[in-house]
Amino acid sequence: MHLNPFDLSGKVALVTGANTGLGQGMAIALAQAGADITLIGRSEPTETLKHIAETGVRAHSIRADLSNSDAVADIVAEAVSELGRADILVNNAGIIKRNEAIDFTPEEWDAVMNVNLRSLFFLSQAFARHLVTESKSGKIINIASMLTFQGGIRVPSYTASKSGVGGLTKALANEWAAHGINVNAIAPGYFATNNTAALQADKKRNAEILGRIPSGRWGKPSDMAGAIVFLASPASDYVQGVTLPVDGGWLSR
Ligand code: NAD
Repeated sequence: MHLNPFDLSGKVALVTGANTGLGQGMAIALAQAGADITLIGRSEPTETLKHIAETGVRAHSIRADLSNSDAVADIVAEAVSELGRADILVNNAGIIKRNEAIDFTPEEWDAVMNVNLRSLFFLSQAFARHLVTESKSGKIINIASMLTFQGGIRVPSYTASKSGVGGLTKALANEWAAHGINVNAIAPGYFATNNTAALQADKKRNAEILGRIPSGRWGKPSDMAGAIVFLASPASDYVQGVTLPVDGGWLSR
């Protein structure tokens, strides 16, 4: 029995796209719960590293551009060689392209699918191969969206990718639960980050969105803390294949 089932001391968490936004909030939360952190992204996550250092855990950052899934090849090996192990993978990196479906281009389609779904799958595969080879248990947490459940407007590739994340979370849980790997997802509602800058700036859409959120405000990256620590910790060992909304009640309306 764990005295504190949310304690992540001695674990190493890999978080993609953690230089800003939700990834930064989740990386800090995992560090506060005791995990050492490997940050994976295109640029040096200076601010996130500073916050993690304040918690006293170790951190390492890996440069990788996840628009090409070949970039995932060495990530898990480097994480293990730097911090000694890899127990938790948070697939957070994601992008969005807004355009009418009638005008949507193959480039807009591929750019989103490559980061949000293809690299997410192949990084999860590399991580699971490592755990299975070492006979170790682990946790994968994918970042989904309200558009895992809903259709959205002017974001067809984003909706397809995030709906895919929901399905893939279940598919991977079905295959990897037997290896002691939990695969779950978090569906953030409307959070104030770069990803939603265009929506926040659009007065009409901003008011419509706020009007539908029972909690009455946009989410903050720190609102992801409880859910990510839960799904990364022994507290969720018998939770498999779920997509947990953290949405201020948006989906309940
Ligand atoms: P953000 O733009 O602040 O963060 C996205 C992160 O992904 C950044 O760190 C960025 O550098 C990284 N990234 C993008 N392309 C990459 C690439 N090619 N290689 C490596 N890293 C790359 O936005 P955010 O809102 O924090 O988004 C984080 C995740 O949460 C995304 O998957 C997004 O779809 C999802 N999400 C956000 C909201 C919201 O309201 N903000 C809602 C639902 C889901």
